[in-house]
Amino acid sequence: MSFAWTPHRFSGGALALDVANSVVLRFDPARRIDRFADPVAMDAFADAASRLCGETFERLAPTVPDRRPLLIALREATDRHFRAAVEGEASDHLLADLLETAAAALRGRSEPGFVALEAATAHSALRLTTETGDGRLKICPNCQWLFIDRSRNRSRNWCDMAVCGNRVKASRHYRRQKEAGS
Ligand SMILES: [Zn+2]
Repeated sequence: MSFAWTPHRFSGGALALDVANSVVLRFDPARRIDRFADPVAMDAFADAASRLCGETFERLAPTVPDRRPLLIALREATDRHFRAAVEGEASDHLLADLLETAAAALRGRSEPGFVALEAATAHSALRLTTETGDGRLKICPNCQWLFIDRSRNRSRNWCDMAVCGNRVKASRHYRRQKEAGS
């Protein structure tokens, strides 16, 4: 398996957003990839997030198999709620869905010294609901990931300048060259 949870995949700045961003190109049916569709990758996420996520936690434990559907439900409710918030379409209904799935995620059990991924994701999402009214929550125009812009003047356009920013610049350059050549 060549897939790896690289630092780029933790560009969201909050665990709940990194979990939501385990779906790449969410609204592009032809190219959409769900990294959590593979349980091995889903389990590996917990360990990688413990090291690479912008939020710090106690050690994260992978979601146990029978609670995986719950983590996916929480991921989807998180994405719907915060994406709508960025687009100025927040609703009490979406918030209620998020709160219900978060509550279910908090009812699991963890080993001492560990916090279950779904519980940590719920805590992260709940924190975000009180933090994101200031225009810092954004959607990457290239990959559609959600991220928090913590730059001083809120000037961050991309989830990751080195990946999405450069990709868009390169395709613009390529288009210009093509136009110049034709
Ligand atoms: Zn991006």
